[in-house]
Amino acid sequence: MATMRCIVVREHGGFDRLLREERPVPAPGPGQVLIHTRAIGLNHLDTWVRRGVPGHKFPLPLVPSSDAAGVVAGLGDGVVGLREGDEVVVLPGVSCGSCEACQSGVDQLCRHYHILGESCDGTSAEYFCVPAANVAPKPAGLSFVEGAAICLVFQTAWNMLVRRAELRAGETVLVHAGLSGVGAAAVQIARLLGAQVIATAGGPEKCGKVAALGAHHVIDYRAVDFADEVRRITGKAGVQVVFEHVGEATFAGSLKCLQRGGRLVTCGATTGGNVPLSLHAVFFKSLSILGSTMGSKGDLRTILRLFEQGALRAVVDRSLPMAEVGEAHRLLEERQALGKIVLVP
Ligand SMILES: [Zn+2]
Repeated sequence: MATMRCIVVREHGGFDRLLREERPVPAPGPGQVLIHTRAIGLNHLDTWVRRGVPGHKFPLPLVPSSDAAGVVAGLGDGVVGLREGDEVVVLPGVSCGSCEACQSGVDQLCRHYHILGESCDGTSAEYFCVPAANVAPKPAGLSFVEGAAICLVFQTAWNMLVRRAELRAGETVLVHAGLSGVGAAAVQIARLLGAQVIATAGGPEKCGKVAALGAHHVIDYRAVDFADEVRRITGKAGVQVVFEHVGEATFAGSLKCLQRGGRLVTCGATTGGNVPLSLHAVFFKSLSILGSTMGSKGDLRTILRLFEQGALRAVVDRSLPMAEVGEAHRLLEERQALGKIVLVP
């Protein structure tokens, strides 16, 4: 039987918990496709799966990672519209396909929603199987490495700005950590929507790269208080929308930056999720606090078309061999990456 290498987390902990194992090459079941992996995109989610999250139970052992690009290597019964040899990207959210949420085009709200590499086995393997609904043609002009670096973060940022905050042309948005995965996606999407973009980054090198992505103003949050700086840039007016994913370290400042009637949209809390919130501020300033997670497969198709048209670009720091997954996690955790980290099997 043919075998393949994959990465498995059996217990939570340090980088040494990223085990390399050999398994049989899986066979696609009905409705599934077998993917020969060419590149694996890492997200902060990968580090949470390895470290563990207090109060959350991951189904260990688990093959981590949610993003990938590769080649269709086998088709299960009943799959139409795909052929062996097709170059594809993987759509990271698996849903039932038959509930009201799925049929309404908000599959990320499906009660049976799984993110690859979080609640079911993911993409850190030389071969893996996913439902045929979870692949889409790799946009022409993108390498496999770039194709593996876009889906999770761009669908997340799109759902936050387009669907939840409904950011419009002429509005001003504050994007935290503009060179992080979701941040770099948000800067580009906000520009595309015609918004004025203020972004933050840590240090001059990152600030330069965020400006190159299209941000109108970039604040070095290590050098100045970002809320004071937003006040200065906007002539004390504040912004209509704040794009939050940092949590405890930034939330109070984010609220201060909002105009009356402003919207704060959040998809994460990388520095912790317990934030002080005064209801007085929420009602006196008529604020909206909006949660968001992942995005719909339909919107992801739109995003892939925008990549095909050259309107969006992948921001990749580097690719590493799959065997160096521990180093990849270290770069992510220590915020040393200047863009996405991609593993190559
Ligand atoms: Zn469903």
